[in-house]
Amino acid sequence: MSASTRNLLQLTDAHIAYGKVEAVRGVSLDVAEGEIVTIIGANGAGKTTLLNAIMGILPLRGGVTFAGTDFARLEIEDRVAAGLSLVPEHRELFTAMNVEDNLRLGAFRVGKSSPAQSLDRVYALFPRLKERRRQLAGTLSGGEQQMLAMGRALMGVPKLLMLDEPSLGLAPTIVADIFRTITELRGSGVSVLLVEQNAQAALQIAGRAYVMELGEFVLAGTAKDIAANAGVAASYLGF
Ligand code: ATP
Repeated sequence: MSASTRNLLQLTDAHIAYGKVEAVRGVSLDVAEGEIVTIIGANGAGKTTLLNAIMGILPLRGGVTFAGTDFARLEIEDRVAAGLSLVPEHRELFTAMNVEDNLRLGAFRVGKSSPAQSLDRVYALFPRLKERRRQLAGTLSGGEQQMLAMGRALMGVPKLLMLDEPSLGLAPTIVADIFRTITELRGSGVSVLLVEQNAQAALQIAGRAYVMELGEFVLAGTAKDIAANAGVAASYLGF
């Protein structure tokens, strides 16, 4: 991290348990302003568990600070208001509501931003959503639903957007579109924490990466170094 960048999210020795079973053990991570950081790892490694705990959906033991604020005891709403947002793995859209109403609900949760301005910003990023603004969310294609889930999270104007498997179930060309948009987001001042099983795509856009196995980080470094690591290539990149 250069001296000009500031730490946004800092996680220190995080442990997360389901009952007596620890799904995440002793994980430390940081994301600086303007960074795209990815966590890659196989099914069941603990990636979703980790994002949910950072968001406040699951309890976490350890340190979590965001933009200089201790998040440990903050409710989800307060974390959203501080500038943190999560696009969940299964998108969780209101399928019987139209695109624009789904987006407006994203702003409602935060309450502080001007919905009209946020809507314009989201429609500029995803013109397809503007074309389909009166269409029911449940009738959108998988790629459009992912765009809507991202757009809804962006309505609150987050500082850090956490994305859980945005490529899940999408065709390669759509994945390329989504990943291009993630890069554009960074350009507009949003930092990104990206969880992916599609390691190859994630490592192409991220600056740094963590490799997660069985609840622990086993490797961390620049995305370039991680992509060049022989063990990572064999396990996650399909070479
Ligand atoms: P995936 O890509 O499949 O979501 P992941 O890396 O995100 O994988 P998690 O979903 O976080 O992994 O799961 C981590 C571990 O925690 C797994 O062993 C899983 O079985 C367990 N786990 C997840 N959710 C629960 C739950 N609600 N109750 C008990 N155990 C759970």
